[in-house]
Amino acid sequence: MSSLTGMRPGAAGTADVTACRADFPALAQDINGYPLVYLDSAASSQVPMAVIDEIARYQSHDHANVHRGVHTLSHRATEVYENARTALQRFINASRREEIVFTRGTTESINLVAQSFCRPKLRQGDRILITHLEHHSNIVPWQMVCEQTGAELVVAPIDDRGDVSPDSVVALMDERVRLLAVAHVSNALGTVLPVRELAAAAHARDITVLVDGAQAVPHMPVDVQALGADFYAFSGHKMFGPTGTGVLYGREELLDAMPPYQGGGDMILEVRFDGTTYNELPYKFEAGTPNISGAAGLAAAVAYLEAIGMNLIAEHERQLLDYLTNKLAEVEGIRLLGMAPVKASVQSFLLDDIHPHDLGTILDHQGVAIRTGHHCAMPVMDRFGIPGTARASLGLYNNRADVDALTAALEKAREIFG
Ligand code: PMP
Repeated sequence: MSSLTGMRPGAAGTADVTACRADFPALAQDINGYPLVYLDSAASSQVPMAVIDEIARYQSHDHANVHRGVHTLSHRATEVYENARTALQRFINASRREEIVFTRGTTESINLVAQSFCRPKLRQGDRILITHLEHHSNIVPWQMVCEQTGAELVVAPIDDRGDVSPDSVVALMDERVRLLAVAHVSNALGTVLPVRELAAAAHARDITVLVDGAQAVPHMPVDVQALGADFYAFSGHKMFGPTGTGVLYGREELLDAMPPYQGGGDMILEVRFDGTTYNELPYKFEAGTPNISGAAGLAAAVAYLEAIGMNLIAEHERQLLDYLTNKLAEVEGIRLLGMAPVKASVQSFLLDDIHPHDLGTILDHQGVAIRTGHHCAMPVMDRFGIPGTARASLGLYNNRADVDALTAALEKAREIFG
């Protein structure tokens, strides 16, 4: 069993990442003869031993189905699963554990809100307001529900730095808007949106607010009540937990009034052929056997993050992102995309006229893992008139040596492409 090493403040009050890096076994390998430099945490983060161990422990000792069993293992599994819910509640400061719905991830959380909250409510002429920098997961579910109801999707602009001005969003909040759905942090550009301010403006106009927190939760403290989010969606696999896990936070009053999203076992109190009564929150939204080992792993990821401290992580990454951006800016032929004043963990770029996929492949030959393409944010690429970008994204385990390896690999790519 590995121990949780965690970061400790260094001399300058900054995080000592070297200690925490050792907790991630996948980082200690060579790729194509080079030590792995993992700069793709925005797509999926690596998993610490504490999470791997907890999943193995659960599967080896406690596994059974939850909620319905009278035997010991079923009780244990239920306890593991429900304790995970409580851990998530604490982590994002939800006021009640019933407000935490386990899902497969951000995508499912947003689709749940689209189909269960919006679809029964929306009428012809109603509007859903988003911004131009959203991930496809925070666009397509709204397009689908608009098609189903005759509502309209309205898009607030971004500027040349990839920033969202609150005024331009608020200007679109007219009496037809029923829902504002915004990213907390853009996965393609790294922009941190002024969610608190936008939520306050929306609430003043009776507009419900959904926040896509996929890229925020692993990088900064998130307090859903302080933000004023009515719904907050995020994924386990981007916060050092397992794939196939995620959360929809929803204010109890809203969740309570919503019909179920899927039907099946566990989400009912009583089933008769002449009518079925639904279970209470949050089970009404958790039809079927849930991802129990995933929830165990996600709770271990939360414990891991809490032991390090989200403020420490945010400060470490803020400094490292500055370093990354400055080092990239020194590379000849580079074009940086996404230069908003408040950013987190992501830098997109282009190098000369090298296609991002070719660049990504050359970097991989040198052990450097970055993401290339449209990052599931095609409208952002259209906005900048490009097919895609190369994107380096940071996790708590990255350090300056990773950034130096990236820029060295980019210099080599320039030589290769001449
Ligand atoms: N929103 C944002 C901002 C994202 O970065 C992602 C993942 N790239 C998603 C939503 C979708 O997350 P998932 O695929 O885990 O459902």
